[in-house]
Amino acid sequence: MADFKLTYSTMFNPPEELHTGFDAAVTKLKANLGKEYGMLIDNKDVLSKDKFEDRSPVNTEVVLAKLQKGTAQHAQEALAAARKAFPGWSRTPWQERVKLMRKAASLIEERIFDLGAAMAMEVGKNRMESLGDVQETADLIYYSCSQMEQNDGYIKPMGKDPLVGYESKNVSVMRPYGVWLVISPFNFPFALTGGPAGAALVTGNTIVIKPASDTAWIVRLFAECLRDAGLPDGVANFVTGSGSVIGQALVDSPEVDGVTFTGSFDVGMKMYQDFARGKYVRPVILELGGKNPAIVSRHADLERATIGILRSAFGLQGQKCSAASRVIVEEPVYDSLIARLKEATEKLVIGDPTERATYLGPLINQSAYNDFKNFSEEINQAGGKFLTGGKVKTGDGFDKGYFVEPTFVTDLPFEHRLWQYEMFLPITTIGKVQNLDKAMEIANSVNYGLTAGFYGSDDEVEWFYDQIQAGVTYANRPQGATTGAWPGFQPFGGWKGSGSTGKNAGGHYYLPLYLHEQIRTRVK
Ligand code: NDP
Repeated sequence: MADFKLTYSTMFNPPEELHTGFDAAVTKLKANLGKEYGMLIDNKDVLSKDKFEDRSPVNTEVVLAKLQKGTAQHAQEALAAARKAFPGWSRTPWQERVKLMRKAASLIEERIFDLGAAMAMEVGKNRMESLGDVQETADLIYYSCSQMEQNDGYIKPMGKDPLVGYESKNVSVMRPYGVWLVISPFNFPFALTGGPAGAALVTGNTIVIKPASDTAWIVRLFAECLRDAGLPDGVANFVTGSGSVIGQALVDSPEVDGVTFTGSFDVGMKMYQDFARGKYVRPVILELGGKNPAIVSRHADLERATIGILRSAFGLQGQKCSAASRVIVEEPVYDSLIARLKEATEKLVIGDPTERATYLGPLINQSAYNDFKNFSEEINQAGGKFLTGGKVKTGDGFDKGYFVEPTFVTDLPFEHRLWQYEMFLPITTIGKVQNLDKAMEIANSVNYGLTAGFYGSDDEVEWFYDQIQAGVTYANRPQGATTGAWPGFQPFGGWKGSGSTGKNAGGHYYLPLYLHEQIRTRVK
């Protein structure tokens, strides 16, 4: 694998060693499921009276792990441990923090097959997407480390200030806020925990992590990488339990100095409002949902458009914040494009995500499965037509998991609410327009502004960049119309209802979000 760099763009034709490594890890892991895991507070395992079972969405009879239902008391304990550790960690030379975080990233890489196998079983991601999530996490942490170095730890001498008879030396020092809360979603449990955690830690904050309950096991395995890298006690803490109990207790605590929340718009906005009830304004980084358009012009290369849209609509079963959930096509190429999309979709393999041939695994849980059935019914009632899919999968071992068909919908009027609403499923609506201005008007007419894709001529591409309201934009990309960002290449973040900071993760402006400035003036 010497010359192979795994990213979401390179994952389509990986070397054989990647498959053999993954297969061996799956076999090993399957023989060792169902263990109990504690929370990690102050680098110690902490158990709660109540537990929950983490079952695989591939086969709900399989218990992957047993985890703790943490309480408000555990939230306070984790925050207290982080508070106690903050003075020591924040004063540790930044070069030392970089070294420890690089160690954590290299442990993630060493464990990539085991972690990827656990991810596939817990999230239902296919093997390459699972390995991608793990590698992306290491790369996000490496990127944060290199940003610290490139910016000299964010310590910058300023101009000399000549006062009458005196000379002053001025230095700008960026300092950590304190205790940082990281709340992550189920769909990229590793990268969207590890990215924010890495940024918060390398800048000198201490952290408390609260993962999505559906993916608490894999995030526990991430927390172990931090622990095993040798982070001092209390620097990184990990708690589990329901969002409404332990999550809410964390959000409501005055002991939190800043938070990164990645998840749905509704939960994020509520959190934002709750967090604002504190004694003063504290930083909140929100990374929320998307309703991402792919626009296809009459000049598009339809082969590229087909493959890019397919990958972005149905990768991780449409459960990506960056999924191409809307396709808007100029009339002259509409019929040809939908014929190609239908043909390509029918070849996609649905099944156990640990299997090499599988492209679509199951949905994450029963609630998403019910949503799929309800939205399909709603689309049907509204006169939408199923170009592909529209049904759940039954028989052949599908009945034990949450498997559904990849679904393209045509003829749903643009006024229908599902052109605006983030379904977070493998359901993508396709619509026809007379010209690109109309396509852009529709593309921008949503509450979100996360990613967007375009297929067309060079001149049109410039127009697209200028007009589209989105934080991550792609043109003529076969690897994915709207998906597949990688740290250092495509920093990731959203506009409007998709994100709060206007600065993208894995980019130049991200680390300063975790720091506040202190200007130091000394008169000689
Ligand atoms: P949710 O909003 O349902 O949950 C996200 C996290 O919030 C989970 O850890 C959840 O815990 C926790 N939570 C729930 N209620 C509370 C509360 N009251 N206080 C504190 N924490 C709480 O999102 P999903 O996990 O379903 O993830 C999918 C969503 O995430 C989609 O909308 C997607 O677009 C978005 N997303 C955005 C990304 C971006 O970069 N912009 C990237 C990836 C996803 P629990 O599971 O225990 O309820």
